Amino acid sequence: MEPLLSGIYAGDIDQLSLKAIFPQFYEVEKRYRSLIIGTKRDKTYSNRFLTLRNGLESIVESMEEKLEESSIMKGIRVVKVEKSSRDQDYEISLNNGEHLEADSVIIALPHYLLPNIFPRYDFFEPLSKVPATSVATVAMAFSEEAIRKNFDGTGFVVARNSDYTINACTWSHKKWPHSTPDGKVLLRNYIGRAGDETVVDLSDAEIEQIVFDDLNKLVELSDEPDFTIVSRWKNAMPQYTIGHEERVKALKDNIVKNLPGVIIGGSSFEGISVPDCISQGESIVKDVLQYLRKLNTSKQEVISE
Ligand SMILES: Cc1cc2nc3c(=O)[nH]c(=O)nc-3n(C[C@H](O)[C@H](O)[C@H](O)COP(=O)(O)OP(=O)(O)OC[C@H]3O[C@@H](n4cnc5c(N)ncnc54)[C@H](O)[C@@H]3O)c2cc1C
Repeated sequence: MEPLLSGIYAGDIDQLSLKAIFPQFYEVEKRYRSLIIGTKRDKTYSNRFLTLRNGLESIVESMEEKLEESSIMKGIRVVKVEKSSRDQDYEISLNNGEHLEADSVIIALPHYLLPNIFPRYDFFEPLSKVPATSVATVAMAFSEEAIRKNFDGTGFVVARNSDYTINACTWSHKKWPHSTPDGKVLLRNYIGRAGDETVVDLSDAEIEQIVFDDLNKLVELSDEPDFTIVSRWKNAMPQYTIGHEERVKALKDNIVKNLPGVIIGGSSFEGISVPDCISQGESIVKDVLQYLRKLNTSKQEVISE
């Protein structure tokens, strides 16, 4: 279990909260006494992988097409969010000096930024202590003949007590055949995990060599890669350490009390996967609409009074 869960969260399994990261496993274990027995009996478990044919960026592109052009600002940071002087709405300060006004604000940012964005509210402070791990992916393309020791499956994960630096490798050409031309193999390697992140800061050439050496030991490479792409994801993996659910609940309660109309979501809070982030988004939209309706009714009542 350790390489699998740590592979997904780039975390230290001893620190992670099972209830927060895999509540379904927690339930299965309670119900069937064993995770293996439970997953065999419970037919809701499927190991189908899904992705988007044109890459994950196509989600963002298609959302952008549907939105009004003026509703998107790129390359600009939110610096601060404060209640406006009227105390009914919010003023959002941007790093280009502009200020926006809003009745309701959805914050879908990495958690560690929130204490600075809401400096007047110390209930955001505990978020600055929640770790976020840095990782890098290293995609390497080879010709088929370069892999001497092929194996079944769509990839592998590596235990933390092994001598390898890579902690997982996806055989992208098998997992996503549409991603790779015939006769080529595409290996997507993962490096960096809680307690072992310094490797992410090495140069591209050093990382490439480390990953190549690891792969060579595992699959015996007879040739150099056609190309390598190193992508660093700094502080990108929020760690749902023990007590995570309680911390998020306390934070949300404080926000409702002190900052009505502000809603937080995204990978730092209730699920790190893309589907988790989408379902958080769907429920946030409902909450915002409900809040705006309530606000509208109370404003109309004030006008009629
Ligand atoms: C290497 C890697 C592999 C992964 N693999 C998978 C996978 O196979 N399946 C899966 O389901 N999930 C996977 N994930 C997890 C998933 O991709 C993320 O958890 C998810 O995309 C996070 O979405 P988000 O909207 O919460 O955060 P983000 O996508 O990080 O969005 C936060 C946004 O806030 C912006 N921002 C930051 N600061 C400011 C500011 N001050 N003002 C305004 N904007 C700001 C950033 O530019 C960014 O666009 C992976 C993650 C990584 C890093």
